[in-house]
Amino acid sequence: MRPALLGKPQPDHRILCQACAHFCRLAEGERGRCGVRAHQGGQLVSLVGYHVAALHVDPIEKKPLFHFLPGTTTLSLGTQGCNFRCAFCQNWSLSCVRGAIHGEEVDPAQLAHTARRLGCASVAFTYSEPTVFLELVIATADATLPLGLATVLVSNGFQSPQALRLLASRIQAANIDLKAGSERFYRHICGGRLVTVQKNLVAMRRLGWHLEVTTLIIPEHNDSDAELTTVARFIAQELGPDIPWHVSRFHPCHEMPHVPPTPLATLLRARAIGQAAGLHFVYVGNVRQEGLEDTVCPSCGQTVIRRQGFHVAQMDLRNNSCRHCGQVILKAARPSR
Ligand code: SF4
Repeated sequence: MRPALLGKPQPDHRILCQACAHFCRLAEGERGRCGVRAHQGGQLVSLVGYHVAALHVDPIEKKPLFHFLPGTTTLSLGTQGCNFRCAFCQNWSLSCVRGAIHGEEVDPAQLAHTARRLGCASVAFTYSEPTVFLELVIATADATLPLGLATVLVSNGFQSPQALRLLASRIQAANIDLKAGSERFYRHICGGRLVTVQKNLVAMRRLGWHLEVTTLIIPEHNDSDAELTTVARFIAQELGPDIPWHVSRFHPCHEMPHVPPTPLATLLRARAIGQAAGLHFVYVGNVRQEGLEDTVCPSCGQTVIRRQGFHVAQMDLRNNSCRHCGQVILKAARPSR
């Protein structure tokens, strides 16, 4: 347990947590919706502190980030806890907190050095929702960036403006879930708000973060043409046509064990909708089929990055641009602070 950031005492002796857009007002002894931030002894505390519940070296393609440091590995970490309650959560054993907190205490400076020693190009805050372990994100990012490694956020995008300000110069790339195109889905299936996530995506783009967006497509829940078109048009028009969109296959789990896996035809329909909306890079994820996660140059049509699973099999780029026609494909990583 550690003192938490962004707690604000209230006149009625509650504490307002300003880490995410739920803005929980906590009475003494109460935990927030995330289950890992609480009001104890008159202050806001993080119950997870620096206790990491998952720590792995992953290909950056697994986050998924396809246009940021491709072919490199990232030291990936997460604690327990999440501010959403997605009925389809693929990581529910980490996100749902029941009772005691689990995890191994880490030293953020040592984590950063471990990432460098293991040859990782970045450190990623992922697996659960990094906003709820903001203190660990900040301490680790502050140790990572001076070593010349990048920082990556994998998130539901439901930060408060205060948390986004703290993250602004500490994060270089993010994959943000845009889970659906309707408030109904966000409110009833995730316990969040679409409009907040959309606003944050625009804010992250303005901050200069490298952004990619993921939508897990769930049969009969968010797979209509209208809903997918809303998501695709938002990305293309508000974020830009070069933002990669990952449309990903759902597998039955958590509170949706009876929903079937997403048919390939649905994913291909989503890809076509993304392309029709003007997106240059739409990837079909969680499907082992050759070509669906390759990067094709939007200018000349040549395949410039060939992927097999999470691994880059071939790159046909020169200075981050298509070797055939010179079209810029990858933006250079933003320099560290
Ligand atoms: S992080 Fe969000 S859900 Fe957790 S206590 Fe703070 S405001 Fe509530």
